[in-house]
Amino acid sequence: MPPGSRTGPLRRGADAADRARVAEVLGVDVDERDAALVLDPRGLAFQRLEWQGDSALDAVVALHRWGAPACCRALAHEDLVSDAALAVTAQRAGLADVMDWRPDPPRLADAVETCVGAGWHVSPEAAVTVAGRLVHAEIAPEDVAGREGAADLADALRCDALAAPAHVGSAVMEASAADLLYGRDDLSREDEGELSRRRALLLDGERVLQVAEDSGWLPGCGLHPHHLLDHVQARVGLVAVVHGLTAGLREAGRLW
Ligand SMILES: [Zn+2]
Ligand SMILES: [Zn+2]
Repeated sequence: MPPGSRTGPLRRGADAADRARVAEVLGVDVDERDAALVLDPRGLAFQRLEWQGDSALDAVVALHRWGAPACCRALAHEDLVSDAALAVTAQRAGLADVMDWRPDPPRLADAVETCVGAGWHVSPEAAVTVAGRLVHAEIAPEDVAGREGAADLADALRCDALAAPAHVGSAVMEASAADLLYGRDDLSREDEGELSRRRALLLDGERVLQVAEDSGWLPGCGLHPHHLLDHVQARVGLVAVVHGLTAGLREAGRLW
């Protein structure tokens, strides 16, 4: 069958053999519901998981790129996570070969994000395993653990050194907000557009700064909102770098 789209009823579930097929490619045994969405990437549930996986992948990649590892020196973040890049790496990893039907490249790229989201539901470490298989081979479990020697950075949240940790923190905050919204029962029928709208409200700078101020997170270095928001993001990013991704997500979760 040539690559394309497909109509007809959605796959209902995944049996043990289906899950094993998915696990073979992902490197992680994901739950039945998510495995079905990997095999038949269509419909609302697929779009929602893709939406969550997109945020999760950004956080995993941002943390991997901390400290500019040699494997990423010639690559921008976008070079790793663009649709075109994801379609190529997914093809190479054999993702399309285990699916129920052959998606075209854009859909295959979306399916990669779904795979990362499915791993994310197991654990952030499992999402890293999936991203290492399907996105960038150098992404490794160490990326999400606390970094060796990074504890020295804890005092380093200087006003002029916020950009790098804030980049990580921003991605971790988005992933944390996405987790919260994806998991809310009352939003379980909402599509990715509505989820994105809700996430923007959570991440709204004014709201975040109010919570940060109430939590005593803001330094007394000035009043410019952009700079203060950089401080908040850098704080979350640094927790993720020093103590690991799970700790960073927990820190971000205090903002909602
Ligand atoms: Zn890299
Ligand atoms: Zn400052």
